[in-house]
Amino acid sequence: MSGHTDMVLVNDDGIRIDGRKCDEKRPIKIEAGVLKNADGSCYLEIGKNKVLCAVYGPRECRPKHMQDPTKAVIQVRYNMQAYSVSDRKRPGTDRRSVEISKLISEALSSVVMTELYPRASIDVYIEILQANAGTRCAGLSAASVALADAGIPMRDLVPAIACGKADGHVVLDLNKEEDNYGQADVPLAIIPSTDEIVLLQMDGNMTREELDRGLDMAFGAAHELNEIQRDALKRRYTEKASKEASE
Ligand code: ADP
Repeated sequence: MSGHTDMVLVNDDGIRIDGRKCDEKRPIKIEAGVLKNADGSCYLEIGKNKVLCAVYGPRECRPKHMQDPTKAVIQVRYNMQAYSVSDRKRPGTDRRSVEISKLISEALSSVVMTELYPRASIDVYIEILQANAGTRCAGLSAASVALADAGIPMRDLVPAIACGKADGHVVLDLNKEEDNYGQADVPLAIIPSTDEIVLLQMDGNMTREELDRGLDMAFGAAHELNEIQRDALKRRYTEKASKEASE
């Protein structure tokens, strides 16, 4: 978010470097139930981002001092693989991954019916296989599908997508160049049935009017993303049902 580059992020025709219009999100692909040994799982691509999410639980929370007698705790591990970025990333946990894990856990806690499972833990592993900006949104979008795939009761799914500003234009779903050299990045996650916001961050600067326009775009895109999440789960259930019927 330096805001300084000679690179043209949005050209005179309003087209971005990856060929998108300002209000266009990247292509999205979601598949539920991709891992045999996890309770729930999801593979998600948005543009060049590739994310795998696995869910275990609800199961007994360990260590015991982490237990909550009133509800399940959602333990999230967001992890960027060393090969996910152009320069090899130092493997392991860092401040950024701890912060992202925490905010994804908080967003998921708004929809998962944790009160049904006192003292339990729901473990969510998010692996960023390839990163191109927007991985916290991609990870969160994948995690809610994986939780639903695990059969964990939820009020709704959580679609997440960013808006922001690049070359003075309000844009949807920033790519890496826009994230690096644009003027603002605003990741958003919502509960589609109520339009409640469960994650909203802002890095950079925008006018209030620009932010309003950006959020309008991001809400619209989050609802579309929600349909893609639901389709992935429907496909998964149909596959499961036809497999069981043939057994
Ligand atoms: P998000 O991926 O949610 O947009 P950031 O804004 O922190 O999160 O990061 C933007 C992008 O910068 C990432 O998607 C990734 O492409 C890149 N990036 C983040 N951390 C690193 C790192 N340690 N090394 C190299 N690239 C990174």
